[in-house]
Amino acid sequence: MRYTNLKYWDGISDSLIEGDICTVDELFVEEGRGDSVDLSGFYAIPGLIDAHIHLCLNPEIKDPNEQTLPVRDQLLAEMRQRAESMLRAGITTARDLGGGEYLELQIRDEIARGDTPGPRLICAGQPITSVGGHCHFWGGEADSTEQAMTVLERQNEHGVDLIKVMVTGGNITPGSTPKDSQFEDETIHAIVREANSRDYHVAAHCHGTDGIRQAAEAGVTTVEHCSWVGEAGWGRQFDEAVVAKLAANNVWVSPTINSGWKRFKQQAFVEMLDSNYEKMKAAGIRLIASTDAGIPNVFHHDLPAALPVFAGFAGLLPVEVLRSATSDCAAAIGLGQVTGAIRPGLSADFVVYEANPLEDLAVLERPIMVVSRGVATDVSG
Ligand SMILES: [Zn+2]
Repeated sequence: MRYTNLKYWDGISDSLIEGDICTVDELFVEEGRGDSVDLSGFYAIPGLIDAHIHLCLNPEIKDPNEQTLPVRDQLLAEMRQRAESMLRAGITTARDLGGGEYLELQIRDEIARGDTPGPRLICAGQPITSVGGHCHFWGGEADSTEQAMTVLERQNEHGVDLIKVMVTGGNITPGSTPKDSQFEDETIHAIVREANSRDYHVAAHCHGTDGIRQAAEAGVTTVEHCSWVGEAGWGRQFDEAVVAKLAANNVWVSPTINSGWKRFKQQAFVEMLDSNYEKMKAAGIRLIASTDAGIPNVFHHDLPAALPVFAGFAGLLPVEVLRSATSDCAAAIGLGQVTGAIRPGLSADFVVYEANPLEDLAVLERPIMVVSRGVATDVSG
């Protein structure tokens, strides 16, 4: 297939390339063959990647206990709809960071076989958490290093792609506090060691600064949220030494900024967040795009609307925030050799727009065509 006469951004370069995008079967190639589609006047970028979603969660439900009330087949049907809504929004890859029933792994396999339209998924299964800890209702509770290894082994048996650990508490679980760590340092180290020895990367949920420290020291792959919560409140325990450790261990930060963050208008709070991101960037911390889709009011197709908001908080240029949602995100989640750039040999995942996203990120919400693994879907209607 040849998509001709368009301008495209390859996911890496600083500027646009004029020319054709060629695909054979599922891959980008140097020279295309077969049909051609004239895309004069259109723009393309690599398919977007969301580094943090929960396919099993319904964003319209606030109480996590109500999430599993529908019967299994209904849940699966809803998850397929969410997956399709993501694809139609231009999200061609996503990392699922937790559920209790492994249903998202079933959807992952359906999508991979071509039976269900949706983004390529990599899935963590049940996050390792403390007893009664953050998202304990998903079944990954452990009260010792030994039990953490048992939970990890269970994820391995179910065929997960990575390991997720709830290093600190979170908001959606009553009785769990975001600022406090849920595990001893030694347990986090053991989880990362064991996961890495099995070729899994580790995503670490961390709101509190002490948990970010534990994750940084243990050398997790990504820190989710990274909220710098301490006694003084949200974002107020920023720690330069921990930042240095994150940078030294090449830990990516996945801030889960969704489009709803637009509502944060209180100037002092916004300035504090901006300054935290500025300092992280200055220290060389690499950021990736993520939304935590599935939590209340964050829909699975949110990423295109979230990216301009993320760029605003983190002080990123359009090209930088687009890298965080394409090539950088792919590299962070272990898919750098699979997707994230318009390059021969990579999966033919790209999105077509009427205007140049490098000039106006708002166009990301209006894709014209989404090509995923070489298959084009017209989404202009
Ligand atoms: Zn999450």
